[in-house]
Amino acid sequence: MEEGQISCKNCGALIPYHSSRCPECGIENPIPRSEKAKNVIIIAMAVIIVVLVGAMAYGTVNALVKLF
Ligand SMILES: [Zn+2]
Repeated sequence: MEEGQISCKNCGALIPYHSSRCPECGIENPIPRSEKAKNVIIIAMAVIIVVLVGAMAYGTVNALVKLF
C-alpha cells in the first residue's frame, strides 16, 4: 500500500487518505472508522510531542536566562 492511500471499506480500492468519496464505487466516507481513530491518535500523539518539546525548549531558554 502506498503511503497516503487507504483501502475503501466497501470495494477495497486504494484511494487517497482524505477522500470523502470512493472514486471506484462512489460510496461516501469510504475510510474505515478504525483507520480514522488511528489517525486521531497519531495527531494527538504529535500534538503531545510538540507540546513536550516546546515545554523543554522553553525550560532550556529559562535555564539559560537564569545562568547569565
Ligand atoms: Zn470503493
